[in-house]
Amino acid sequence: MEALLKKVQDYGYDITHLSGQEAIASWETIRQNVAETDVEHALCLLITSEYLINAECYEQSIQYLEDALNLVADDDQNIELQLSIKQSLSECYIATKQYTLALDEYVLMTKLAIKNYDLDTHASAIIGMGRMCEHFGDYNRANRYYKKIDRIDHALSSRSLRLQYKLYKLGSYIRLKRYKAAQVLLSECEELSILVNDKLLNGKVLLYKSRIYRLKGQFNAALKILSSISYTLGVVHDNWFACACRIEQAYCLYYLHKSHLAMYLLDNAQRRATRSYHPKLKIDLYNAYSDIHTQSGEYQHALRYEKLAFECESELIRLMPIAELGPNQLRRLSQLDLQLKLILSEIENRELKETTETQRNAVAQLQQDVFTDPLTQMHNRRWLDGQLKDMLLHDTDFAFLIIDIDHFKSINDEYSHLIGDQAISRVSLEIRHYFNQEGQHWVRFGGEEFLVIIENQNLETVKLLAEELRHIIAQTDWSPILGDRQLTVSIGATLHRSGENTQRTFHRADKALYRAKANGRNQVCHED
Ligand code: GH3
Ligand code: MG
Ligand code: MG
Repeated sequence: MEALLKKVQDYGYDITHLSGQEAIASWETIRQNVAETDVEHALCLLITSEYLINAECYEQSIQYLEDALNLVADDDQNIELQLSIKQSLSECYIATKQYTLALDEYVLMTKLAIKNYDLDTHASAIIGMGRMCEHFGDYNRANRYYKKIDRIDHALSSRSLRLQYKLYKLGSYIRLKRYKAAQVLLSECEELSILVNDKLLNGKVLLYKSRIYRLKGQFNAALKILSSISYTLGVVHDNWFACACRIEQAYCLYYLHKSHLAMYLLDNAQRRATRSYHPKLKIDLYNAYSDIHTQSGEYQHALRYEKLAFECESELIRLMPIAELGPNQLRRLSQLDLQLKLILSEIENRELKETTETQRNAVAQLQQDVFTDPLTQMHNRRWLDGQLKDMLLHDTDFAFLIIDIDHFKSINDEYSHLIGDQAISRVSLEIRHYFNQEGQHWVRFGGEEFLVIIENQNLETVKLLAEELRHIIAQTDWSPILGDRQLTVSIGATLHRSGENTQRTFHRADKALYRAKANGRNQVCHED
C-alpha cells in the first residue's frame, strides 16, 4: 500500500484531502493512469470501494471489490490484501442482505486468516457469523461463536476489536437475561474502553450499562447514563447508535410515566431507522412501539407494530443461511483449533524470546555503560583495570601513549564548557578512528587526557603511529567547533617492560608527556 501511495504522489496526485464523490473519481483516474500491476489495480479498487461504502453505495462497492478479488485471488503472496478485500466485501453483502454470500466470505476468511497468522481477521470473521445468528434471534448460538474468540482474546492485537467482540457478547447475554454474567462482562468492557479511542464503541458500553439498569427496574439511573453519553463523548455520528439510544430512552421514560416523550423519541428513531440498513434495529424499534402500546392498553396499535416486526423477522429468517450457521459450521471452526493452538504457542514463544532478548540486551547495555565513558564512548578507567590485569596475565607486550590536549583550559574559558566537551568528543573520535586495529585500545583517562594501549609493537612503530595521530589532529579543520582557533595535542610514549608494574610504565609515559609540554607542546616525546 505504501509503495502505491508513494507512486501516486510521484505522479503528482494530491490525495491527502479527498473525500466523497471527489475521492471516488480521483481514485478511478489514478487506477487508470498510475496502476500497472494487478496488485496496484486491486489496491485502487479497494480504496475506491471504501469511499463507496462511506457513501452507502454498497452495490457499486461490491462490484469493485469482486473485481479486486479476482485480480489477486490466486496469489499466495497477497493474502493480506485478499483478507482486506474480503472483510469489506462481507460488510457490503451484509448491508445488502446477501447473507449467504457474506457467510461464504466469513468461512473463507477464518481459514485464510489462520494461514496468514492473522488472528484479528480470524476473530472478526467469527464475530460476523455470530452477528448473523443474532439477526435471526438465536443469541445462544451467537454466543457459541463469540466464545470461540475467548481463547485467543489475549493474543488479538487490536484493542478495539477486543472491545467489539466483548460488546457483542455482552449484548447477547443481556438478550438471554444472563444479568450476572453481563455485569461481569460490562466491567471488563468498561476497563477496556478506557484504552480504546473509539466513540461508537465507548458509547455502546454506556448504552449497554443503561440497558442493564433499565432491565433491573432502575429507570432514573439508566436515563442518567444515557443523557451523559453526549456529554462525555460528544456527538457520535452513527445512525444505529442514535436510534438505539432513543429506543432505550423511550423505554425508561415510558416506565417513568412519560409516555408522550417516549413516543416522541420512538418517532424520531423511526425517521432515522428508515434510512438505516440495520434490519435488526427496525425490529427492535417495532418491538418497543408494540411493548409501549400494549402496556398502555392500545392493543390495535400494538398489533400493527408486532406485525411489522414479524415481517422484518421473517424476511431475515428467509434470507439467512440458518442451517449453514448451525452445528456443522461450529464444528468446522473447531477443526481449526489445532492450528490456532500452534499459532498461540508460537506467539507465546516469540514473546518469551523477545523478553529474554530484551533482558539480555539490557544486561549487555548495563555492562557497556559500566565500562564506557558517556561523552566519548571510549573505555573508562574501570575497564582499564581489567584490561591491564588481563595483559599482564597473558604476558602481552604493549606500549602506552598518553595524549593530552594543549591549553585546553583556555578553550573552556574562551568558548564555554559545552564547546570544550565538543572538542574532547572530536579528539576522541580521531583517536578511535586512527587506532582501529586489533590490539589497539583507548581509554578516556581524565578530562582532556587519553590513554592508548598498543599491543605487540616496537617503540619505533609506536612513535610513528603517535606522530601520525598528532599530525592528523593538528591538521583537522576545527573551525566548526572553535572558529579560527586551532587545537593540538601532546603525546608521551613508552613501552611496558616485562615484569614491570603498570604504574611505573604509566609514570614513564607521563614523564615523556611532561617533556613534550615543556618543549612547546604539539609534539611526541618518548621514554625508553
Ligand atoms: P596543558 O597544555 O598544559 O595541558 O594545558 P591545559 O589547559 O590543557 O591543562 P590543565 O590540566 O590545566 O587543564 C585541563 C582543563 O580541562 C581543566 C578542566 O577545567 C578541564 N576539564 C576537565 N574535564 C573536563 C570535561 O569533561 N569537559 C570540559 N569541557 N573540560 C574539562
Ligand atoms: Mg591539557
Ligand atoms: Mg591535562
